Amino acid sequence: ETFKDLGVVDSLCEACDSLGYKKPTPIQQKSIPLALQGRDIIGIAETGSGKTAAFALPILQALLEKPQPLFALVLAPTRELAVQIQKAFEAMGSLISLRCALVVGGMDHMQQAIALGKKPHVIVASPGRILDHLETTKGFSLRNLQYLVMDEADRLIDQDFGPVIEKILKFLPRERHTFLFSATMSNKVESLQRASLRDPLKVSV
Ligand code: AMP
Repeated sequence: ETFKDLGVVDSLCEACDSLGYKKPTPIQQKSIPLALQGRDIIGIAETGSGKTAAFALPILQALLEKPQPLFALVLAPTRELAVQIQKAFEAMGSLISLRCALVVGGMDHMQQAIALGKKPHVIVASPGRILDHLETTKGFSLRNLQYLVMDEADRLIDQDFGPVIEKILKFLPRERHTFLFSATMSNKVESLQRASLRDPLKVSV
């Protein structure tokens, strides 16, 4: 099975090829076709499974179909993971002149506000810092967001980001697509899922 068989468009198949992704990983095989159909997804997968491309490719494909600023928000539990996700988006999006901003703690607030003002297509963020910008940065709004991703949701919960994420959700449109990825499912991850996903399909590897 190839990326093309999963419904991925040629330009993104080329990007995968140039990254050395010869064939989709199991989580990619299971989630990409569903994500391309517009379904909300719960992905049970570990780091190393290829989960980043599993959510990034469908987002990039939707963005290609209808280019729009402030299209997707990816929430990650740590700065390191956020950096990795941003690099992956930039690598896969290099052929489509993607703008992707990193918005994590420990970086200059004003510079981030300027970066957000340039209206990137994708924002990869830590929950605390993006909430801060939603609450205080003038002119910054995610009212037209199309995709929300919560990556490593179990770790987001472990770090007590649950209440922060609930506040972020109030700034997002209800009409959107949401993907939640987690290595494990717990009661708290399930309650986050119920608060944020609509009629999701669960895929696990
Ligand atoms: P992730 O689980 O998203 O952190 O990905 C783990 C590693 O696998 C990263 O270095 C990716 O670049 C790589 N990767 C993702 N998808 C594929 C694929 N289909 N074939 C080969 N490597 C991949």
